[in-house]
Amino acid sequence: MHIAITRLDEHIARFTLSGTTPAFANAFRRAMISEVPTLAIEDVRIYDNNSALFDEMLAHRLGQIPLHTDLETLVAADQCSCGGVGCPGCCVTYTLSVEGPKMVYSGDLIPEDPKAAPVHDNIPIVKLIDGQKIVLEARAVINTGKEHAKWQSTIACGYKAYPVIRIDDRCDACGMCVEECPRGVLRTGGRTVEIVDGRLEYCSLCRLCERACLAGGIGEQPAIHVTPDPSRYIFVVESDGSLPVREIMERALLFLKRQSKDLVDILRDISGGTANETSS
Ligand code: SF4
Ligand code: SF4
Ligand SMILES: [Zn+2]
Repeated sequence: MHIAITRLDEHIARFTLSGTTPAFANAFRRAMISEVPTLAIEDVRIYDNNSALFDEMLAHRLGQIPLHTDLETLVAADQCSCGGVGCPGCCVTYTLSVEGPKMVYSGDLIPEDPKAAPVHDNIPIVKLIDGQKIVLEARAVINTGKEHAKWQSTIACGYKAYPVIRIDDRCDACGMCVEECPRGVLRTGGRTVEIVDGRLEYCSLCRLCERACLAGGIGEQPAIHVTPDPSRYIFVVESDGSLPVREIMERALLFLKRQSKDLVDILRDISGGTANETSS
């Protein structure tokens, strides 16, 4: 298996995974979405709220705010030495005390640990008019997207099969497929149509080019053939900012490795220690 990264910054990764299977590509995607732990507000103690939002709606909105997460210092409550009671090792508390008239933003949440501040301070929570007031205390804990979407650290995480475009020698470079292609992948070159340098990955596999070719009366089969490569996938992963996207990828892969090892251990137990360990 091979990963070729074409873009990697704090929030977005774009890479091609080769020599793999559709099952692994999907398992990797699902692990990034639902198995990487992150921080989100879970409990809210409301002391005062006469805003237009009910307490429950206010708590729900607070839960959706992405929070910077340091997984080197925070663990899930059920793995914490406090036994899940709640301590600085497994939860972060925030206070919010505001009076109208004012738009309340995520930046008004004051974290007990500044490293766990909201990722963005301009997410609107509720608008207060004169005389309205909110005073609350919130507690964020570590969990995964499998439990609830608010613990999902990716906001976009998807892939598509790598496109394979073959042009056969019946092509007369008429250019109809070039005009039809919405992604600028094709161009008329010499004797046949060609793929524009660096544009192949932008092909969406829509196959409009094949239809255009058929509409030109070439016969029963087009001269251009677009197929997905089942062993190669282009991924785009975007973090919500709670974790660097690189950490999301690494933790998802470590999760899959752990799961595979657990499965090998179980098989070994069942077969009396004769299961072979494999790696990829
Ligand atoms: S499949 Fe669609 S995007 Fe790809 S080359 Fe053909 S028309 Fe363009
Ligand atoms: S429409 Fe068909 S024949 Fe015309 S350039 Fe495209 S592939 Fe070639
Ligand atoms: Zn704890």
